[in-house]
Amino acid sequence: MSLTLADARVVTPEGVHDGWLTIEDGRITHVGQGRAPRAGHSLGGRYVVPGFVDMHNHGGAGGSFPTGDQDAARAAVELHRRHGTTTMVASLVTATVPGLEAAAASLADLCDDGLLAGLHFEGPYISAARCGAHDPALLREPSPGEFGRLVKAGRGHVRMLTIAAELPGALDTIRAAREHGVIAALGHSDAGYEQTIDGIEAGATVATHLYNAMPPLGHRAPGPVAALLQDERVTVELVNDGVHVHPAMVRLACSAAGPHRTALITDAMAAAGAGDGAYVLGALQVTVSGGVARLTEGGSIAGSTLTMDAAFRRAVQEVGLTLPEAAVTASLTPARVLGLDDTIGSIAAGKAADLVVLTDELEVAGVMRRGAWITEP
Ligand SMILES: [Zn+2]
Repeated sequence: MSLTLADARVVTPEGVHDGWLTIEDGRITHVGQGRAPRAGHSLGGRYVVPGFVDMHNHGGAGGSFPTGDQDAARAAVELHRRHGTTTMVASLVTATVPGLEAAAASLADLCDDGLLAGLHFEGPYISAARCGAHDPALLREPSPGEFGRLVKAGRGHVRMLTIAAELPGALDTIRAAREHGVIAALGHSDAGYEQTIDGIEAGATVATHLYNAMPPLGHRAPGPVAALLQDERVTVELVNDGVHVHPAMVRLACSAAGPHRTALITDAMAAAGAGDGAYVLGALQVTVSGGVARLTEGGSIAGSTLTMDAAFRRAVQEVGLTLPEAAVTASLTPARVLGLDDTIGSIAAGKAADLVVLTDELEVAGVMRRGAWITEP
């Protein structure tokens, strides 16, 4: 079955052009300029961008991945799909090792089904000084052997580990992660500039929500932010919700690292798409007010209520990225980090038909995943 989407403003990494695309068996087969060669589904001049790829997400629609509850996880995936996220990784938070094993084993079923693109352990190998919304009582010293158990529980679906480079055993655990094919991400860390470089040299390639839960950029103490931004091997995650990071600092990161090393993430928790109220994140109580999630005790920011469409919109309207740059940060860069850029992450012949149709105001008008409409424009 073949479908033509006509009268589109197609956003590719190279630019924006008036054109069309054809889709067959879930894949993009042609991307053309100007008028489509045959009648198709007119998008009425709306933008079409690649489906968003969110590599750091704890849930939504009331559902929380750290619980391991499959129905709740499905509801979260569905919510984020309606907001344009066609590929997502489920992030767990610090818990006991048996608790993490159980949640990973349960969510691995959803990875087998293709609902999730993998699992991310955010903790337990993180700094007590920078633990944010992680239960400090459950933090652990990094151990390659113990991490091997967590990887095994995920049955080949563990994609990322967030770790603090300065902890004893961290560098060996980063090396072990690489041997397991797991991306090591530096974050929730009190490391300085040199310690962060040690983590990168050991094999870390991602910065977990740059700026948040790490020492700030300082002109005499450059800290992890400078080390992570300036290393060509590192991709930096940003929570672009206007709360976690000031737009000027998002702009600074994007200009230092470039869109190909900058990945927008949501770091969303259960309240995304579910409204203000009382929630839990892992073992901790969270109060969401005015769309901002904070620990009920102490007030640390506890994830976000962001969706990728809003992160994308803000990247253009508040940060000042071009549409192609924003699309790279929301799709192609995270796809590359996950090793999926051969099949997703941009609008090109041969790639999966994962698409988001956006209005002039960059609101979602339609979402397609693997050639099937989730929301038809
Ligand atoms: Zn997180």
